[in-house]
Amino acid sequence: MCRVFSTKSFPRRLLPLLALALLAASRLVQAASPSEDVADLVLRHGVFYPVDDPKPVEGSLAVRGGRILFLGADSYTLRFTGAATRVIDLAGRAVTPGLIDAHSHLLGYGRTLGEVDLRGAATFEEVVRRVSEGAARAPAGSWVHGRGWDQNLWPGARFPEHGALSRAVPDHPVWLTRVDGHAALLNAKALALLGLTDAARDPEGGRYLRDASGHLSGVLVDNAMAVHPPSPAADPFAATAGERERALELAGTKCLALGLTTVTDMGVDGDEVAAYLALRERRELPLRAALFLSDDDALLAQWFARGHFLDPEARLTIRGVKLYADGALGSRGAALVEPYSDDPGNLGLLKTTEDHMADVIARANKAGFQVGIHAIGDRGNLIALDAFERGLGGAHPEARGRIEHAQVMRLEDIERLARLGIFASMQPTHATSDMPWAGARVGERRLAGAYAWRKMLNAGAQLALGSDFPVESPDPRLGLYAAVTRQDLSGKPAGGWRPEERLTRAEALQGFTLDAARSLFLEDEIGSLAPGKRADLVVWGRDPMRVPEAEIPNAPVDMTFLDGALVFERDGAR
Ligand SMILES: [Zn+2]
Repeated sequence: MCRVFSTKSFPRRLLPLLALALLAASRLVQAASPSEDVADLVLRHGVFYPVDDPKPVEGSLAVRGGRILFLGADSYTLRFTGAATRVIDLAGRAVTPGLIDAHSHLLGYGRTLGEVDLRGAATFEEVVRRVSEGAARAPAGSWVHGRGWDQNLWPGARFPEHGALSRAVPDHPVWLTRVDGHAALLNAKALALLGLTDAARDPEGGRYLRDASGHLSGVLVDNAMAVHPPSPAADPFAATAGERERALELAGTKCLALGLTTVTDMGVDGDEVAAYLALRERRELPLRAALFLSDDDALLAQWFARGHFLDPEARLTIRGVKLYADGALGSRGAALVEPYSDDPGNLGLLKTTEDHMADVIARANKAGFQVGIHAIGDRGNLIALDAFERGLGGAHPEARGRIEHAQVMRLEDIERLARLGIFASMQPTHATSDMPWAGARVGERRLAGAYAWRKMLNAGAQLALGSDFPVESPDPRLGLYAAVTRQDLSGKPAGGWRPEERLTRAEALQGFTLDAARSLFLEDEIGSLAPGKRADLVVWGRDPMRVPEAEIPNAPVDMTFLDGALVFERDGAR
């Protein structure tokens, strides 16, 4: 490839200079050796959203060696077009950078593809019915997994008890993860296999819910979900290396069809890292992934000694550590400064100490790793910020600390997050999922700092957007829609929930591209349509930046390109 087009030696602030050099170079193409400057791919007659420039570009984009060679007027790219160039006429269609999910769980998503989908179940009876159907298809005695139940959608909105489930599914152990991933409902067979009895004592940072007479209800909250199976057969999450790799391939392929070219896996253990490395080694990882290691002493010691990992094609990054300050709001595990408005006396749960977090942050930073702390309640966020400040010794934006979710914050802590240069890694669809009941949990006053994307930006913080899939759908169109409307898919509430926090489409797109890339140390490689960057692109059947807001979720992804290669094409897109 032509030297001038490589960004490797170009710091970001010099990129505009690079673009100028490129323009000059494009006029000199005739003089250069033709084989050096002929593009592999030219997308013509498109509307391109570069993201690092607010103005869309009508014209062409040329790709060579997997990187963007040129973006500009159609007439210029004619000069890059040779006999071997693949030319695709977009007929005016929109192109954005490949979308990035800054907080997701790719392997977990792969697993859910074999699970019973409990999202939207309007009653507990509906949950039992769906699980019974799933169990009927599962081999005798094997674990049946489900995910997505939410008692807030049921009459009475009370946590379930396992009785009806255990009667309907007596022979398979059942593990049903709540919609937020912070609680699970088990049936009697599963409780028995795991040796959980009424005598079980609540672990630190977790809870076994009980019925009125003190028996286990089957619901495990937060750290109580870290079960200790007495045998491998009793392990609800045992999987072979092959199963993990297949789950990743399946999930990655689904993501590409949604326009996601880079995803994250927040909190992976050693076996899971091994699955990624094996796939990458065989060049079978379908998309880009950035991994955040779980908070495990041995795993962290091993990786801190080895240093962070980025393969030459930037397909796999291992550079993060995921910590947990607290639980989630739905299960009242998020740690609050003052009690829950709908549960006086309950302050939620802290999952790790500030000392531990500060210690990991300091060691990670020394080893060249970044830390993302899950923090949902205002006390969880406060302690996470304290930990960053101590662990990094003040404001160190170059460490690229991240707070994951940053859901309910005191207004002064939003300012502090921005001052410390910590990324707010937020998920727009969490707001629209939680809006029916978030006010009941925290009350009107605390809602001012809840899901407060606009206040984050106004304070000067960088927003890295994502979905937290499989907690929410991986579909980034739903995230863009939620970010700009703060409405559910039926358009409610009119005008949006706390509409003062809405983002513009350009801001939302930046959160799902360039700022997400920055939050992963990948902004020199991906996140915008700048010459020199990797050609990760989405061609849209309808322009998500211009269709009426209500139609954003239905804007078709026509094509997805990864490193300039067409990796997904919708039937009928051409
Ligand atoms: Zn998550």
